[in-house]
Amino acid sequence: MEFKVPLSRADITQADIDAVVSVLKSPYLSLGPKLPEFEKNMARYVGTKFAVAVNSGTSGLYVCLKAMGITAGDEVITTPFTFIATANCILMVDAKPVFVDIDPVSYNLDATKIEKAITKKTKAILPVEVFGNPAGMDEIRRIADKHGIPILEDCCEALGSKLNGKPAGTFGQMGVFAFYPNKQMTTGEGGMIVTDDERLAALCVSLRNQGRGAGGGWLAHERLGYNYRLSDINCALGISQLSRIDEFIRKRRAVAAMYQELLAGDDRFVVPTEAIGSFISWFVFVIRLVDRYTQAQRDQLLKMMTQRGIQVNNYFPPVYLQPFIAGPMGLKAGDFPVTDRVSARTMALPFHNNITRQQAEIVRDELRKCLDEIG
Ligand SMILES: *Cc1c(COP(=O)(O)O)cnc(C)c1O
Repeated sequence: MEFKVPLSRADITQADIDAVVSVLKSPYLSLGPKLPEFEKNMARYVGTKFAVAVNSGTSGLYVCLKAMGITAGDEVITTPFTFIATANCILMVDAKPVFVDIDPVSYNLDATKIEKAITKKTKAILPVEVFGNPAGMDEIRRIADKHGIPILEDCCEALGSKLNGKPAGTFGQMGVFAFYPNKQMTTGEGGMIVTDDERLAALCVSLRNQGRGAGGGWLAHERLGYNYRLSDINCALGISQLSRIDEFIRKRRAVAAMYQELLAGDDRFVVPTEAIGSFISWFVFVIRLVDRYTQAQRDQLLKMMTQRGIQVNNYFPPVYLQPFIAGPMGLKAGDFPVTDRVSARTMALPFHNNITRQQAEIVRDELRKCLDEIG
């Protein structure tokens, strides 16, 4: 279906295309010079000592948990209101995701509920800046430090966000960004691990490249590894996109401000805002219907908007209720009431760098009409 207003769209220029083509004309399609250049630029942008490029955000999270030594019998505290990969990477290392409910305003892990979930088996906390919002990351860090538990930051949605001047990606021992086409910047597919820890960075470099060691040859494998390499074709696109990240963030903030202005004053839904001290690099723009609406009405709204050519989505259904998680873990609806309440009523609006005022007005008008019909 052709949408009048699509949910997301990558911002690709001729410079991006030229960067990719120049790699295709070079002898180095993978493990060439674009890989360290992309990593160096990303480390500089985020402000970490090291950056390790991988082929997706998901593989990045998995490799980080491996590098941190998280394994069977360990528990990792995380949020049930996120993209599935956050929980999956914990399951992939045979550890147990321990879900903690979210804050009803920021939608991030509720820091005040973390301590009750900590046990002797807790080996990491895996928080997410949901939709790019960094609110509460400092509190989570304080609790993790108090208990000596490392943080793996799933900052896949938050490239460029800051809390009191501190960038997303620097709140934990390790952080992971992602570059699928709907993210703030894209490499087609891709991810980036950031850390200040030299040992963890070196381990990730080895794990992403078949367990090869630093000085060893192509067929010397020090450990069980994977092929999670990011090709120089992707890295060239990443370098080119990253060079425009400030412009991307500025444009997205302008679109968010435009939505905030156009959608103000309607008491049928809550519009996301930036808390004091937070600088949001917006991933998506998610509104929430007020509590008098049911999930069925929200689902009806999604359907009506889609039929009218406005591409919307239900970011996010509760991760803990996905059948392959709920079943084995014995979880059921109601276990995380804030997550349930929020996730039954949220809707992501079309959001990307180049949403026009006219498009935003169409979204607003259709949204109002649909809600009038729903009653
Ligand atoms: C995008 C995203 C990821 C990683 O996604 P990939 O598609 O594997 O790059 C992980 N966690 C969150 C919260 C995300 O939004």
